[in-house]
Amino acid sequence: MAPSAMMRAAFYEGARTFKTGTAAMPVAGPDEALLRVRRVGICGTDLHIFQGHLDHRVPRGGVIGHETFAEVVEAPAQSGFKAGERVVVEPLQFCGACRACKMGGYYLCHNLKVLGVDLPGGMREYWNVPVARLLRVPDSLTDDHAALIEPLSVATHDVTRAKVGEGDAVLVFGGGPIGTLIALVARHRGARVVVAEVNAFRIEMLNGLGLDTVGPDRDLGTFVNDWTGGDGVDVAFEVTGNPKAVRAMTDVVRVWGTVSIVAIHSEPMPVNLYQMFARELNMHGSRLYAREDWEEAIRLAASGAVPVGPLVSRKIPLEALQEGMEQALGGGPVMKVLVDLTA
Ligand SMILES: [Zn+2]
Ligand SMILES: [Zn+2]
Repeated sequence: MAPSAMMRAAFYEGARTFKTGTAAMPVAGPDEALLRVRRVGICGTDLHIFQGHLDHRVPRGGVIGHETFAEVVEAPAQSGFKAGERVVVEPLQFCGACRACKMGGYYLCHNLKVLGVDLPGGMREYWNVPVARLLRVPDSLTDDHAALIEPLSVATHDVTRAKVGEGDAVLVFGGGPIGTLIALVARHRGARVVVAEVNAFRIEMLNGLGLDTVGPDRDLGTFVNDWTGGDGVDVAFEVTGNPKAVRAMTDVVRVWGTVSIVAIHSEPMPVNLYQMFARELNMHGSRLYAREDWEEAIRLAASGAVPVGPLVSRKIPLEALQEGMEQALGGGPVMKVLVDLTA
């Protein structure tokens, strides 16, 4: 695989416009590896970028893509990485000096930059990345499955942070890719899980994964009461961003139970704080991931403990990114769309 002088890449050209073109081959710096990117997942954040919502962070001509799987082309001799190794990229740049970093929360760094949002990402054939941000992927994981490690790391982080335990009743509001992965990880930890979802395609997919669902045809409060003998669930995850779910989430959790906010709420929303008070609930946010969450995600996907394959709805070539974004925005029967950089 001899890298040519130019490579294909997709560029963000302002709201609703991605253009595929060419760019000069990147050159890896002293602590960087040169990667051949193979797959990039498209997620909700990318759709926000596409709509122009993140123009304050993504520059014109910027390269997006933070859910990446790649192969090492070259790496510094002392880095421990070799040509041909399969890797995923933890897409974060942090300062190491702020309060968050010093507390161990480097993924919440006050100066955090996300590769593929604030800094160039992986939507291109070749990519230079600091070796400190690479994690090896076992051969037992296919390329498509490896592309799901990043969202799965979000899910392992969320489930760990909410301290989901054996036998817990867990309700997940929203069965998109992250909600589904949270449900699968919680089930693997021994929890009893139900996903509240309204989209018929997603309900069918969740049921196909052996997950129980509660749809729009049933009253959620009544359902949870019946399910838990009137106690409420141990943990509820809010993964919809929908005001109705936010209004309902504190009503369905037991005394001393936990509400975890995973969705990105860009606007304030009404929350029933009476239940928060009356049942002494715990509520926390869950945003990105730490190294341990990535390592667990790789283990769970590689062992098959969390089946990620069924989440891949479609693969598109880089040239179809614009069209793929438009289709994803239109909704419909889609879970995860992967860009195949080898196509
Ligand atoms: Zn994402
Ligand atoms: Zn920092």
